[in-house]
Formats: sequence, C-alpha cells, structure tokens
Amino acid sequence: MNYPEFVRVAPELGLDRLFDYRIPERLQGQVGLGQRLRVPWGRRSIMAYAVEFPAQPEVEKEKVRDIEEVAGERPLIPASLCQLARWMSDYYACDLGAALRTILPGPVRSHEGSGKTAWWIEPVAGRAELAAQVLKGARSQLKAWGHLQSTGGGWLTALVRETGIGTAVWRALVDRGLAERSEKRFVQAEEMAEEGWPDADKKPELGEEQTQAMAAWQEERKKEKGGRAILLEGVTGSGKTEIYLRAMEGVLAEGKNAIILVPEISLTPQTVARFRGRLVGQKIRLSVLHSGQSVAERRESWHEIREGRARVVIGARSALFAPLENLGLIVVDEEHDGGYKQAEAPRYHARDLAVVRGRIEGAPVILGSATPSLESGYNADREKYRRVRLTHRVDGAKLPKVHVVDLRKENKPSQGGPIILSADLSKALEDRRQKGEQSLVLLNRRGYAPSVQCPHCGHVEECEQCAVPMTYHRGEGRLRCHFCSAEKPSPHKCAECGSPVLKFTGAGTERLEEAVAAALPGVRWTRMDSDSMKARGAHGKALAAFREGRTEILLGTQMIAKGLHFPKVTCVGVVGVDGALNLPDFRASERVFQLLVQVAGRAGRGEIPGEVFVQTYTPFHPAIQFARHHDVNGFREQELEYRKAHGYPPYRRAILVSFSGPSEAQAKASAEHAVKRLREIWKEKVEVPDPGPAPIARVEGRFRFQIFLLVEKVGDVIGDLKREVLAPKWPTGLRVSVDVDAQDLL
Ligand code: ADP
Ligand code: ZN
Ligand code: ZN
Repeated sequence: MNYPEFVRVAPELGLDRLFDYRIPERLQGQVGLGQRLRVPWGRRSIMAYAVEFPAQPEVEKEKVRDIEEVAGERPLIPASLCQLARWMSDYYACDLGAALRTILPGPVRSHEGSGKTAWWIEPVAGRAELAAQVLKGARSQLKAWGHLQSTGGGWLTALVRETGIGTAVWRALVDRGLAERSEKRFVQAEEMAEEGWPDADKKPELGEEQTQAMAAWQEERKKEKGGRAILLEGVTGSGKTEIYLRAMEGVLAEGKNAIILVPEISLTPQTVARFRGRLVGQKIRLSVLHSGQSVAERRESWHEIREGRARVVIGARSALFAPLENLGLIVVDEEHDGGYKQAEAPRYHARDLAVVRGRIEGAPVILGSATPSLESGYNADREKYRRVRLTHRVDGAKLPKVHVVDLRKENKPSQGGPIILSADLSKALEDRRQKGEQSLVLLNRRGYAPSVQCPHCGHVEECEQCAVPMTYHRGEGRLRCHFCSAEKPSPHKCAECGSPVLKFTGAGTERLEEAVAAALPGVRWTRMDSDSMKARGAHGKALAAFREGRTEILLGTQMIAKGLHFPKVTCVGVVGVDGALNLPDFRASERVFQLLVQVAGRAGRGEIPGEVFVQTYTPFHPAIQFARHHDVNGFREQELEYRKAHGYPPYRRAILVSFSGPSEAQAKASAEHAVKRLREIWKEKVEVPDPGPAPIARVEGRFRFQIFLLVEKVGDVIGDLKREVLAPKWPTGLRVSVDVDAQDLL
C-alpha cells in the first residue's frame, strides 16, 4: 500500500489556516480524512482534523513536523462530510474551521467528557460587549473567553489541557455570567412533544399521481450519482409525506440510510410519529435531533448515528450534517422555508447544501413543498432538478375557499384602535363553533401592540440600542425590543411631552386574543407563540387539548401554520398580512404567498370543506390574489417577471456584505472603503452599488451598513470577498460579514 506521507490539518481551535504535517511511519495507514489527530503546536500540542492529503507540503519538507497521535480508530468525521465542509467554506466564505464546527457539534468534538464530574463549559451568547468591558486587564480570563468564543465550548478538563489555563479562570467566567457550565449527567432535556398519528403503521394504496411520482423517483435514482434532485411540488394534503415514507422504506430495504429535514422539528411532532410508525416491527432506529436536547443527548445521538445504530435521522437544518454513512435518501420537507438558512456564520442554506451532499455521496434528494421557492422552481425549469407534481388532494378533498376581506370597507371599531377581527371573520368563527368545528387564527406578530405612540406629539417609544419601536407586552406590562433583549416597564406618560394618554398602534397575538375573547363570549382558545409556549411541554399540551376538542380556537404566530393536521379545522383566519407585504425585501410577496397557501392548507383536511378569511388593506395584491386561487404557477410567473426585470434571484445570486460597529461614521467609512476596493478589482465585471444603512439601521447599539450585490456566479467573486472584505484588519469593534444567497435583508 502506498500511504500518504503528508496530511493537511485544520486545528480544532477554529483557524481558517491549514497546516501541513508528516505522518510518521508508525502511524501510516491509520489516518483517514476527517480523523482527529494530536499535532505539535509550538511547545504544546493541539487537536486537529485531517482535511486533505497533499502530495507535497506547502512549507519546506525539512520543516514539516510529525503528527503525534491518532485519536480514535476511525475518522470522527466521515470523509464525505469533510468534503462538504470544504464546499461550504468555499461557497459561503467561512472558515473551514467554522464549517467543521457546524458539522461536528461541540459536545462530540471532545471525548473527555466521559468522567463522572465532567463539566461542559459554553460561552453565553450575546455577551461579547460585556466581556470586553468586565474582562479588561484580566489576561487569562480574556484568553479563556476568546478560546470559548472560537471553539464554542468544551469539557473543562480538555479546556485546561489544551490552553494551559487553570480551572479557576474558567470558573470565574461562569461566575461572571459569561459562560455556562452544565454537568453531563444531570442535564435535563426538554422533552419533545410527540403527537400521535392515527394508523401510522398502515400503508395506504397510492393514488395515480403518487404512483407516477414514485416512478419518477425510481428512475432518477438509478442514474449516476443519485440522479437529479426531485422537486416534489404538491398541494397541501396531496400525499407528499407518503412519498417521503415510501422512498425511505425503499432505501432502508436496500440497506441504505435516510435523512429527513423538516423546518422546525419541535413544531412538527406529528411528522415524527408518522415516520416512526412505518418502522414499527422492523428493528430500525430513528434518531430525532432537536434543539431541546441536552449536551449529553446530542452527543449520544451523534455517536449512535456515527456507529450506524440509528439509520434514519429526522431533524431541522443541522440534521443535514448527521454523520450517516451509506446514505440513500435526503428529504427536505417544506423546502421553501426560511428556517433552512442559518443566520450566523457559516450562513449555509440546508436545502441547497442537501443537494450538494447528495451529489458528493451519490444519494438521491427529494425537495418537497406546496409552494416551492423560486430558486428551486427555476432549477426545475432548467432541468437541473426534476419537477414532479401532485395536483390533487388525497381522497378528492377540496382546497378551501379563500375569502379576501377588504378592511378599507370595514367599520372602524367604536372605541378606536385597529380592526382586528372583521365582521365576516367573527361571524365565521362563531358559526364554526356552533357546529362543533375548530378554527385557526394567524397573526404573525407577538406581543400586544408593535408600538406605543403619543397621540399629542407623535413620540414613539424606541429601543435605546436598536432603531425600532418597542413592542408592548400586556401580560407582563412591559415594553420589549424584538431585536435585542432590552425591556422596560410600560410608561404611564409620554417621555417627550408628558401626555398621560398613550396609544397602542397595531396588533400582536395578545391583542388578537383579547379581540377573539370579546367577539366570542365563552370561547375556549389557546394562544400559541414563542412567549406563551416557553414552559416545558406547553406546546405538546396545547396541541393535545386542541386535538381532543378541549379548545375550539388555536391562535398565534406562524407556529400554528406549520404542518399541523387536524381534520376538524374548517376555518382559518389570517390577520395583519399588510405589514409583511410592505417589508423592504424583494422576497416579501413570495413569503406572504407561501404563508397564506400554507396556512390555508390547514383548513378542510377532513370531510367538511374549509374556508379561509384573509384580512387586508390591499385586497388586489398579487400575493393575496394568487393565494386566493391556490394558483402557484400564476404567482410564480408574475413574480419571475419582476425578479428578472431587476436581476434578482433566481436570475442572479444575492450576496449581502454587512458592516456594523459602535461608531456610525466608522461603519460607514469601512463599507465605503470596501466598495472602493471591490470596484477597483472588479471594474465592469460586477456592479457594486453604494453602501447604504440597513433597513434596521441600528441593532444592539451597532450601526449597520450594507452592500447588496447581485452576481452571476458566486464562485467568481467569493475569493475576492474573502480577501478584500473578510481578511483585512478592520477597526476594533467593527464586524464584517458576507452572506451568500442572503435571505434576511433587514
Ligand atoms: P402532504 O404531505 O402533501 O400534506 P400527506 O402525505 O400528509 O400530504 O397526506 C394527507 C393525508 O392523506 C394524510 O392523512 C395521509 O395519511 C393521507 N394519504 C396520503 N396518501 C394517501 C393515499 N394514497 N391514500 C389514502 N390516504 C392517503
Ligand atoms: Zn407626547
Ligand atoms: Zn433593541
């Protein structure tokens, strides 16, 4: 055998730079791609991952040092995931280290936690400013803090060994509230509510369209490298999930494994039950990955998957990195969902990355949605993906009738304030209730009122740290900023002019709840949003109460729009879409359209036909009109025209370069400097617009400037962005980011 002599490693500390080492004879044949190694580092030694086997080292051969030892018998990271990390680092312009950290969660990275008093130390998010203040002069603590920041945390014993910083220093960080520690043994996980699914182990006979869909999938996956990704475009309730289930069963029977991605695992408990149901009686383990898992559980799941004990993995975005080998299927359900894009570096999109992983491993991919993203739809138009349609609901159930309620014609409430429930919607809710049926009411905004204004001088209570009004939360009697954690007691008079009367403008779910209670005396309802569902198990309890008919109305944010299947829901109200339509974001219409179709799809899933009421001041808006007719193609065509005219995605790729810092002038100047540099290098190649303040110009006391780029090919510009934007030393305190295929433009 000819074993590689050199290995290129990424230090676990999270440096983008790679270093070359020699594999000494005694270790040859033991180093695989993704293997964790101990390598000499100055006078110490550190842990690192093998990411490449170069024929020649980058430095002089004489200077290359030997690796010291190989940790673990086989690579900790499967080789294919190493390749995926590389791809991420190239495409999303992130450190390879950061990509590897995403792939290999903190608790897995260090094995040292098996002892009985092992402490896991993790930095507390959002404390960077605080740390900078309180740690001034405390050198070891600063160093320890920096280490936590770059590694994301570690087992105490390992931290001490790797850095040479003593236990007391780490404890001090915990005492100062900058880091958290948890003991492996005693961390309690939040239980995930698991909703049942009737007859989950029964297999229905496939309908005609479903049969064709299965045939297309079979045909495609026989092709080289798993064939093209299937874009399964099926109306709500058309049996898409049944296709995922069959595909899973098929690959499992062949001895292969499957990953199922859903937008928010904790909100889709029924999906898990359906997948589990199909595995009953077969000794196949399914591993559910969710954010409520404790450190110890995450670690255990990971190893169970890595060792091949679990063969199906269901989870949100990060489950894409499950270390499954012999992959036969990746499903991305609700592929259009914004939750698949990670907001922090690495800013990857799990749907797009699923297609990349599928290609690397030759694993077929199914992307499913009732309202595919324009990006995926465009890929199908160009035959990069294979489009398969399910146009009918199973059992011929009808799509619900959608009424658009024109709020301009509605009578204003006599006591003032906004119209929350129109007469039509109130009546429908009451009607359905009389008949013993159930309803959903969606208002995608939490709190009572999004702003508090003085009717005399017009003063609006704004967050001191962010350039946004504060939301009034009536339950707590406080104002909260939804962009940072700032809060304060609700004022009794205007801070400007002293007027004792203040006006609540707009409405959130708390106000909706009040309106529902007032309009329907004696109604039993649950409000579902991230405020009301904080308590452990609250979500599961609310769903159970609704399923058993103990509540009649479920109202809340988009939490109620996701994947729920309740046959008795026959009426859906949508309140307050206008705000979402008017956001300064080219995807605003697309998002509203998708949300409307999705929430409408919750109605009439049983025998009784459903009805939907959409309240709006712009009844003729295309997003609303096309949603009303369930016309996905119509919307697509119109929206594509607009995107094409402006060169927006899917025609070009959007890259958002952001600068933020405590000084407005400095953030602006830095953005301008970057623009100047990019124009010099790119000349005509890429148009670089002037930088502008972000729509939300200040968040957490940091002023934000953006450069919005539209490019033909990411690969053509990413190297330059890394070099000119990410690499340079910017003034202290300035943060720079590059968001490829940016979804959040605010
Ligand atoms: P989607 O994922 O497109 O919303 P589902 O797969 O959830 O659709 O199907 C909707 C309902 O129809 C579910 O109750 C499911 O069990 C049922 N169903 C799916 N396919 C069939 C079929 N071929 N025959 C009978 N019922 C089916
Ligand atoms: Zn005032
Ligand atoms: Zn704020």
